[in-house]
Amino acid sequence: MGFLSFFMNLLFPPKCVFCTRILNRPDDGWCDRCTESLPFTENHGKQDGEIFDFCIAPLYYTDVVRRSIIRYKFHRASHYAPVYAKLLAECIRECDDINYDIISWVPLSAKRERSRGYDQAKLLALAVADELDDVSASTLTKSLNVKAQSELGDKSERSKNISGAYVASDPQIIAGKRILLIDDIITTCATLDECAKVLLAAGADSVVCATLARGR
Ligand SMILES: [Zn+2]
Repeated sequence: MGFLSFFMNLLFPPKCVFCTRILNRPDDGWCDRCTESLPFTENHGKQDGEIFDFCIAPLYYTDVVRRSIIRYKFHRASHYAPVYAKLLAECIRECDDINYDIISWVPLSAKRERSRGYDQAKLLALAVADELDDVSASTLTKSLNVKAQSELGDKSERSKNISGAYVASDPQIIAGKRILLIDDIITTCATLDECAKVLLAAGADSVVCATLARGR
């Protein structure tokens, strides 16, 4: 640890990204208590998609995980990305039947990214690619500003809301590629199915997904 980071750690002691307790080992990102008690999924939290092949997730979207992701998305805790990426990268590494050429993400609209200051799925995807030493690329842009999916009810309502919202950004990057799409959470699959539909229409060979957390 350099002098500056030693000094910064004294001033701003690093906290567990999940329960916010001060960490004994600043580099870990989460605490021993959370290692014991986080709602880890079994079998990589794998669920099949209608359009994408399947989606894996290391955690369930409950309790401390939900509160942590809300801080990450809405309260400027963008420094959580590399910590989340460790969990997500481990889940991807341990999943035997996941095959991909490039890592990409479900983007925010430019307007939402400006107001939030960052795109949380992009930060997560870049950090995961870094962790796995893989290639990442932007493959989609969100053209329409639709209602937040979290404000809507069932899958058909969410599918209708999101339909046509994404466009393929560069077909040359996408054509013939197996794409691993990253997002923070998966609830009804509507968003990831819509993104997969656009990528496959642009010539992607296959789409598989990984999110930090999933619904029960
Ligand atoms: Zn903790």
